[in-house]
Amino acid sequence: MSKSPVAKPKVAFFDFASCEGCQLTVVDSLQTHLDLLDAVEIVNFREAATLDGWDFDIAFVEGSITRPKDEERLRRIREQAKVLVALGACADTGCVNALKNLQPPEEVRRYVYGEHADWYETYAARPLSAVVKVDAVVPGCPIDPDEFVEVVKALLVGKKPPIPDYPVCVECKLKGNVCIFHVGGICMGPVTRAGCGAICPTYGDGCEGCRGIIPHPNENAMEEVLDEAGLTLDDIMHYFTMFNAYREVGTGKWE
Ligand code: SF4
Ligand code: SF4
Ligand code: SF4
Repeated sequence: MSKSPVAKPKVAFFDFASCEGCQLTVVDSLQTHLDLLDAVEIVNFREAATLDGWDFDIAFVEGSITRPKDEERLRRIREQAKVLVALGACADTGCVNALKNLQPPEEVRRYVYGEHADWYETYAARPLSAVVKVDAVVPGCPIDPDEFVEVVKALLVGKKPPIPDYPVCVECKLKGNVCIFHVGGICMGPVTRAGCGAICPTYGDGCEGCRGIIPHPNENAMEEVLDEAGLTLDDIMHYFTMFNAYREVGTGKWE
């Protein structure tokens, strides 16, 4: 008697406010990891296929929540998914979408929509975790394709995804880079989540914190680095704000 085939985990991809660059990165990484496509059944992935199934085990969700009605759709995804993964910085931290939270809502609406500002429903941008429980994240703007593959592999065997909780400085020092602070620059590496291989400092740019802040940042170490460089927290806040405005002000002036 032949064995019945083992059911593959059903995977779905969804998006909210985002540039969809993280989903494009997923498409990119799947092209070189066809084994992953064999291991799962993709049932919903608007970016890449005409599939719109709502029977899934793992949901990868890209984008920030920026309208009250987004919450209803996100809760529906949460109810269905055994595992919900925030895909990329928009979903994980609010990313650049949350920059608008720093400005008064009416000004933002009018700047974007002009005389039709009242036509569009919008509220303060927020990460998925402000609305539902998130089980795992793939950080970064955009995500790292290899890290995405490692997260999927971990989830398929029921393990915690291997996302670093140490700072970018660790990877940067292992590469032997000259510290950006030592050449007159600014860098968020001491408090930003590693995993990108310190790519920005490696190419001479300060880290702007796109992978989010580590769970227990060593603020004293950051202050020591700033002291040495003759800088204050105020001097570097614009670096912090680019990708971490939600962490800084929450829903800010939209409250
Ligand atoms: S995290 Fe960055 S690349 Fe990904 S969807 Fe958001 S803006 Fe685009
Ligand atoms: S502060 Fe930036 S440049 Fe300096 S070691 Fe850390 S990550 Fe590298
Ligand atoms: S170095 Fe910083 S800004 Fe650059 S990719 Fe890594 S976390 Fe993002």
